[in-house]
Amino acid sequence: MSSPAAPANLMEAIVALAKRRGFIYPSSEIYGGLNGFFDYGPLGTELKKNIRDCWWNDLVRRRDDIVGLESSIIMHPKVWEASGHVAGFTDPLVDCKVSKMRYRADQLFWSPVLVDDKTLGYVSVLESDNTAGDLQVAAETLKRRKATQGALAPVAPRDFTKAKPEEIPLIPSPATGEPGSLTAPRAFNMMFQTNVGALSDASSVAYLRPETAQGMFVDFKNVVDTTRVKLPFGIAQIGKSFRNEITPRNFIFRSREFEQMEMEYFIHEDADWAKCHEEWITWCENWLKSVGLPDSHLSRYTHPREKLAFYSKGTVDIMFKYPFGVQELWGIAARGNYDLTQHANASGKPQEMFDEATKKKFVPHVIEPAVGVDRIMLAVLCAGYAEEDMTDEKGNVEKRTVLRLSPRIAPVKVAVLPLIKNKEPLVARAKDLYVKLKRKYAVNYDGGGAIGKRYRRQDEAGTPWCVTIDFDTIEKPGDTFTLRERDSMKQRRITEAELFALLEEQVY
Ligand code: ATP
Repeated sequence: MSSPAAPANLMEAIVALAKRRGFIYPSSEIYGGLNGFFDYGPLGTELKKNIRDCWWNDLVRRRDDIVGLESSIIMHPKVWEASGHVAGFTDPLVDCKVSKMRYRADQLFWSPVLVDDKTLGYVSVLESDNTAGDLQVAAETLKRRKATQGALAPVAPRDFTKAKPEEIPLIPSPATGEPGSLTAPRAFNMMFQTNVGALSDASSVAYLRPETAQGMFVDFKNVVDTTRVKLPFGIAQIGKSFRNEITPRNFIFRSREFEQMEMEYFIHEDADWAKCHEEWITWCENWLKSVGLPDSHLSRYTHPREKLAFYSKGTVDIMFKYPFGVQELWGIAARGNYDLTQHANASGKPQEMFDEATKKKFVPHVIEPAVGVDRIMLAVLCAGYAEEDMTDEKGNVEKRTVLRLSPRIAPVKVAVLPLIKNKEPLVARAKDLYVKLKRKYAVNYDGGGAIGKRYRRQDEAGTPWCVTIDFDTIEKPGDTFTLRERDSMKQRRITEAELFALLEEQVY
């Protein structure tokens, strides 16, 4: 028997488990760590790889209309001029002159108001001093503002980078508690700069990519000319991206080096983009559920029209209910033909396709689902983590920590456990099964210690099944093992063929 429960401080528990069990370590920890960077340990590496593989298999291999790409991380600097990143990929930065701390102006001057897990809007620190903690006061403030100014909810926070000095709220620095030490907000470009080649001057400046998407646009013609793709079709890529975030936070949710899985789905200029957009939003939601995220934790946020870039037709974010709030997990943007047109203009190379029906050339439009691997990983850890009280047959209560990861992404699929250590035929059968399973799946062999302890160890790692090779295996006909399920902790007898059939069905 068990009763599941998330601990009061779920994030602390997850960070501790991630370290203890080798999912995630701070980067360069022996030197004190580096803010915004992380290392993935043995279990974390497997979990991340499985998330990537599921996305790649479902999107690229199992569909006929999407192809893969791996573009370079450092690209020609003109790519980032044409894309708008050199001029506009900025966050509003505020410095505290006394403490030397840096803050994002939008986060400093505004507090989001969440009602029923939805962002209702933002209240400024001047509108009400204590609204952040008082939902009712905050909601009232918003209603008043809506009534007087007719503002539509949710109202995005203003960043004050173009404000006159007298318009900027005079607020205390979070570091000192005193007003007067904060600078006016200024636009801070988040791209990491480097130099290519031996010379370190303006001519050699290059950037670590802040997104993988531009690779797909810049190679669009290459893919069209060298493969047999026909509209509509997509180009997908998985890879590292880098952003010099002003305030990396919430563990791996916002880091400075992270991994993206992005896809550009090109459609005819006359195609029904809204229908295609909706289809991709639904695809992404279903995919998240297929790797174990519960429907109850997912929601949609439609960007208000007035906040969209001039070229954008619409953006919907799939939000996830993290312990620190409902936050963006996956952005699905309808970007028109802006990106290809920008690159055509900047490079002088047309980025067009030919319409056989109308005998006219046109620039395809694009729908872009863009998601972070690390954010999915954090979401599955948050949704799957539980601490439970278990009552055994004798009535003793014991605690267990369990990670309910989907078999599709669990780092270890099966643990093979011989009931006792030194009983030769029993150990030989366990090793034989282990070797067979290992050819296809990530499997653990754990030969020692009390069986209950070994189960607990696998529960914490998120292993969906344990098989115990016991005396019945070798003494009774049928060659069966005990299969123990992680979630229900139920046990049943199973043959080798049945075990492989179960894995075949659940791990895909
Ligand atoms: P945010 O508003 O949270 O900064 P964004 O809208 O700038 O995100 P996009 O540029 O749309 O994000 O990037 C696509 C996806 O990449 C995001 O939905 C998110 O999953 C992931 N992502 C973006 N920035 C980071 C980051 N700093 N750390 C981890 N993942 C990130």
